[in-house]
Amino acid sequence: MYIKSLELDNYRNYKELKMEFDKNTNILYGDNAQGKTNILESIYVCGTTKSHRTNKDKELISFETDESHIRLNIDKDSVAYKIDMHIKKNKPKGIAVNGVPLKKASDLYGIVNCIFFSPEDLYIIKSGPAERRKYIDIIISQLDKLYLDDLINYNRVIDNRNKLLKDIQFDYSLRETLDVWDMQLCEYGKRIIEKRDEFIKKIRPIAVEIHSRITGGDEKLDIEYEPNVEKINIEEDLFLNRERDLVNKTTSVGPHRDDMLLTINDVDIRKFGSQGQQRTSALTLKLSEIELVKKSINTMPVLLLDDVLSELDSKRQTALLESMDNIQMIITCTGLDEFVKNRFNLDKIYKVEAGSVTEESSPVHV
Ligand code: ATP
Ligand code: MG
Repeated sequence: MYIKSLELDNYRNYKELKMEFDKNTNILYGDNAQGKTNILESIYVCGTTKSHRTNKDKELISFETDESHIRLNIDKDSVAYKIDMHIKKNKPKGIAVNGVPLKKASDLYGIVNCIFFSPEDLYIIKSGPAERRKYIDIIISQLDKLYLDDLINYNRVIDNRNKLLKDIQFDYSLRETLDVWDMQLCEYGKRIIEKRDEFIKKIRPIAVEIHSRITGGDEKLDIEYEPNVEKINIEEDLFLNRERDLVNKTTSVGPHRDDMLLTINDVDIRKFGSQGQQRTSALTLKLSEIELVKKSINTMPVLLLDDVLSELDSKRQTALLESMDNIQMIITCTGLDEFVKNRFNLDKIYKVEAGSVTEESSPVHV
C-alpha cells in the first residue's frame, strides 16, 4: 500500500497542511522543532488510532484550538481509501473510512499498514517487559483484529480483578465473585498466549536472517517467547496463586506479565547488550515486521523512519536502504548530506519549516 496525500487542520504545529507523497522515497528535512515528527505521527495515528508519543488525544490538537482533523488518502492494492479523523478535546475521536463512520476506533486497525521506526525504539530492547509486550501487541493487532478485541477484554478483566482483590479486604463475601473474573481471564488469556507464541515463532526466523545480514554474519540473534504462564497451566496457576494475589492485591498470573527474550551470541541483550547491539536489534525487529506484514497480508506496509539514519553507521545505513525494495518510505532528517553521500535515490523532497512544508523543485537523483 502507499499513502497518496495527507491533510492536517490544527494538528500540533500545523494550522493547515496539504501534501502529496511519492510511491517510493519521500524525505522531510528541516531543523529541530519544525514539525517533521508531527507529520509521521499523524500518519501513524491513522494506522493505530494512537500516537507513538502520547495516549492523550488532546495533546495532538494545536494549542488554543479545540479540535483537529487528519485526512489521509491511501491506495491499497489499487483500492482507494480515505481516512477522516476528527480529534476533539474532551470527547472520543470520530473516524470515518470512505465517508462511513466507524463504530469504534479499533475498527481502524488493519487499514493503514505502517511501521514506525524512531530512535526511541531502542527501548523495546532495553526497557522493561511492558515495552516488549507493546511491540508484540501492536504488530499482532494490525494483522489480526480479533486479537485486539481479546486484548482489550483481557485488560478490562485484569483491572476489574485487581479492584476486586482490593475490595475483598473490606468485604470478604465478595470473594466468590473472583471465579467469574478468573474464568474470563483464562478465556481471553489463553488466546493471547497462543497468538503471541505463534507470532514469535513466525518472526524469529525472519529476524535471525535479517540480523545476520546487517551485521555481516558477526552476530547471531535469537528471540524467544517468555510467557508468564503456559496456556495449559493458566487455570491451575491462577488458583494456586489466589492467596498471594489477595495479600498483594494484584493479579500475578497471566499474559500481562509476559516477556520476550532477545539474545546475541547467547547473551541476554536486554541487560548486557551494547548500545550499538541494542540499536541494531531494534532495527532488526522493525525490518522483520515489514517482512511479516508482507507475508501475512500480502501488502507492503509504509515505512516511517524518524531521524533514524543518522544514528546508524554507513554500513548499516546501506544494509537498511538496500533491503527496502518496492516499499514507500517517509524519512525525516535534519540535512540531506548523508543521503547524497550514500548515493541514495530520493523521489520527493520536502523542506519543513515552522509548521509549513515546501516541495523542493528538483529531486536529487544520483
Ligand atoms: P526534531 O528534529 O527536534 O525531532 P521535529 O521537526 O521532528 O524536530 P516535531 O516533534 O514535529 O519537531 O515538533 C515541532 C513543534 O511542534 C515543537 O516545537 C512543538 O512545540 C510543537 N508542538 C507540539 N505539540 C503541539 C501542539 N499541540 N500545538 C502546537 N504546537 C505543538
Ligand atoms: Mg522529530
